[in-house]
Amino acid sequence: VIYREQVRGFLKETNLEMRTSSERLKANSGLGTIFVKNLYLACDPYNLTIIKYLTQLGSPVTGYGVARVLESRHPNFKKGDLVWGITGWEEYSIITAPETCFKIKHTNVPLSYYTGLLGMPGMTAYAGFFEVSSPKKGETVFISAAAGAVGLLVGQFAKMFGCYVVGSTGSKEKVDLLKTKFGFDDAFNYKEELDLDAALKRCCPEGIDIYFENVGGKMLDAVLLNMKLHGRITVCGMISQYNLQQREGIHNLMNLILKRVRMEGFVVSNYQHLYPKFLETVLPQIKEGKIVYTEDIAEGLESSPAALVGVFSGRNVGKQVVVVSRE
Ligand code: NDP
Repeated sequence: VIYREQVRGFLKETNLEMRTSSERLKANSGLGTIFVKNLYLACDPYNLTIIKYLTQLGSPVTGYGVARVLESRHPNFKKGDLVWGITGWEEYSIITAPETCFKIKHTNVPLSYYTGLLGMPGMTAYAGFFEVSSPKKGETVFISAAAGAVGLLVGQFAKMFGCYVVGSTGSKEKVDLLKTKFGFDDAFNYKEELDLDAALKRCCPEGIDIYFENVGGKMLDAVLLNMKLHGRITVCGMISQYNLQQREGIHNLMNLILKRVRMEGFVVSNYQHLYPKFLETVLPQIKEGKIVYTEDIAEGLESSPAALVGVFSGRNVGKQVVVVSRE
């Protein structure tokens, strides 16, 4: 899948294009590389950053995925190994910096989970909640884009930790899922609320201790009015702003001072050292059914442009995955 035409405004399927070629494989194989068959690809909001700022027109799209090693010219990998990390949106890829990939050791879970729950989004939820948000039992946690890969995990971590958990998302179906399947105490559909401030006051009447920020814009402004004294805003992402040519202004920032709120951004790649601890915590929780998870599966590499575009309009329910091959 090639970056065909420059993105202007919202990402469109026509910005990307399927092509068949094996030229790139020949050009990139060399000492220190691995040759892989891609199995599952993640559609992450991060793909848009990669496409817009790191991919040349005519080059393949890259992003997180799960792959099987077919040939290795790197001492740490051998034929047959399963890995997750940055790969190409291709059937086969040469990974030129395989040391950035993680070897998959636990295969008694669906391998596709390494694009989400057990991969980068799972680590984002874990590090963002436990390392950045300084949670305390009994606190009120509000999460935006709560029915997505990161949000639904933050909600479950917060619930297990003993917090009161509220989420916002973009459809009635997803609101119901948050409350019935993912154990959120309350949730609302931000697309149907005329007044976000009123919705937050209804669902968090005593205010918000932790805001796990995934969307930015109007939601952030409304949340600022509802933060409790010494609250924390963990800035994970601002997806409502990524496609805008002119980013929205925030009007209520003064509340950071009035309420002594700490607002802190983070990037998951700074927490990679916690990955073994994360797996140790989360694998048993999956086995015991304490963590539930949902994936939105798109079949075939050819479905990847539409699947990625869908992430920016909320078409996905849970982690958006593209299946390239199941074996
Ligand atoms: P999701 O699986 O949650 O998919 C994105 C969701 O965002 C959509 O399903 C949609 O759900 C919602 N959304 C899309 N457009 C808008 C909009 N204009 N306004 C409000 N909501 C919107 O993605 P992830 O869970 O992977 O990512 C969540 C956030 O975390 C993103 O902001 C991402 O950039 C960030 N992130 C940050 C990382 C870091 O290191 N800091 C690492 C990974 C992710 P809905 O139906 O609710 O609208």
